[in-house]
Amino acid sequence: MDRQQQYVLRTVDERDIGFVRLWFTDVLGSLKSVAVTESEVEGAFAEGIGFDGSAVDGFARVQESDMLARPDASTFQVLPWKEGSPGVARMFCDIHRPEGEPFAADPRQVLKRNLSKASQMGFTFYVHPEMEFFLFKGADDPTPLDRGGYFDLTPNEIQSDFRRQAITMLEKMGISVEYSHHEVAPSQHEIDLRYADALTMADNIMTYRHVIKQTAMRLGVHASFMPKPLTGEWGSAMHTHLSLFDGDSNAFYDPDDPYRLSDTAKHFTAGLLRHAREITAVTCQWVNSYKRLVPGYEAPVFISWGRHNRSSLIRIPQYKPTKAASTRVEYRAPDPACNPYLAFSVLLAAGLKGIEEGYELPPEAEDNIYEMTEAERRAAGITSLPASLDQALSVMEESELVAEALGEHVFDYFLRNKWQEWEEYRSQVTPFELERYLPTL
Ligand code: GLN
Ligand code: MG
Ligand code: MG
Ligand code: MG
Repeated sequence: MDRQQQYVLRTVDERDIGFVRLWFTDVLGSLKSVAVTESEVEGAFAEGIGFDGSAVDGFARVQESDMLARPDASTFQVLPWKEGSPGVARMFCDIHRPEGEPFAADPRQVLKRNLSKASQMGFTFYVHPEMEFFLFKGADDPTPLDRGGYFDLTPNEIQSDFRRQAITMLEKMGISVEYSHHEVAPSQHEIDLRYADALTMADNIMTYRHVIKQTAMRLGVHASFMPKPLTGEWGSAMHTHLSLFDGDSNAFYDPDDPYRLSDTAKHFTAGLLRHAREITAVTCQWVNSYKRLVPGYEAPVFISWGRHNRSSLIRIPQYKPTKAASTRVEYRAPDPACNPYLAFSVLLAAGLKGIEEGYELPPEAEDNIYEMTEAERRAAGITSLPASLDQALSVMEESELVAEALGEHVFDYFLRNKWQEWEEYRSQVTPFELERYLPTL
């Protein structure tokens, strides 16, 4: 047993933890949990905990369903909302086959595999997500709690209690919060996490979504990460700031470049731009995700980069342009309902491809791309993100980059599952159609 595992066993004992929840994530990004009692924890470290993987979306076919969840001791945290004794804690797990090898459909291990490629190239991958979400009256009642807007301080008691409680919980679980504010749409909020390495951050996002939903529930409201819940209002994004470090130094920073960007950063950004269409099904994985990616709401539609232009897919933030550590690129397509392990995997793969192949960064798009005509955009070489899930899937299907980043099992399952979602959606008659056509046709 290693030192971290010994620390967990000691803490379980000293803090009177009665149950430890073993957390993992399915292919579509839902959090799964199996609880073990205190006495099982040592065995879980030694051998893992067996479970039936065929019940988990995207995991296994029935004939090969035995799985082992092996807890990662470094992720041990007491759950602060479970007050009283005995307490409850959680650890994230890696999923293995009974024979011991890593299980191909486990998103956490997909990300680990991609991160080890970055580390072979000498890089650590850091991310900082800006997570947005809505608070509504209920799961079946998307009525906003306020009419507030960007940075508004609303007098609504529930919402100020909400942010205070949620942030306190996150901090108690070792997740540092950098900013929080009211977002542009009514009842929309943003809570940004301090940057961390991508694996820690993917775990943190899973915890974050759970904490946000828990906190809302306790206050009798509903929190939603649905990308575009309200027609005619801003959607919820997970703008993701990306950087590569080489040891302690930011490999994206070059003080002598007019943009303060190193060649590494430029090739990485060029990789994101070139492969943006292929990875969009993963960063924006629901039919509803594409209702957000439309003009007029500061969400990206066109594939371009810029420093100030918030209609760009990629923005180079200029808050502290001379600070080496904060040099980064902001990729604005992802939404907070993605699977963070898979989204970080494909973002990294696209960027690393740009570095490996030495892709040239196209010129910055300074104009507001939305105001350009189609012909002007074509002349400037600016293409668009997929406009719907089926378009995104068609491009992903042809992508060697995504197949390699996700691995065959996840790639195939994802496409099959998502085409089925699209087929179900396609056959729906919507309120829009009834309103528009029924009176006259
Ligand atoms: N929420 C917006 C989006 O969908 C952007 C608004 C913002 O955070 N600046 O991308
Ligand atoms: Mg923000
Ligand atoms: Mg925002
Ligand atoms: Mg942003």
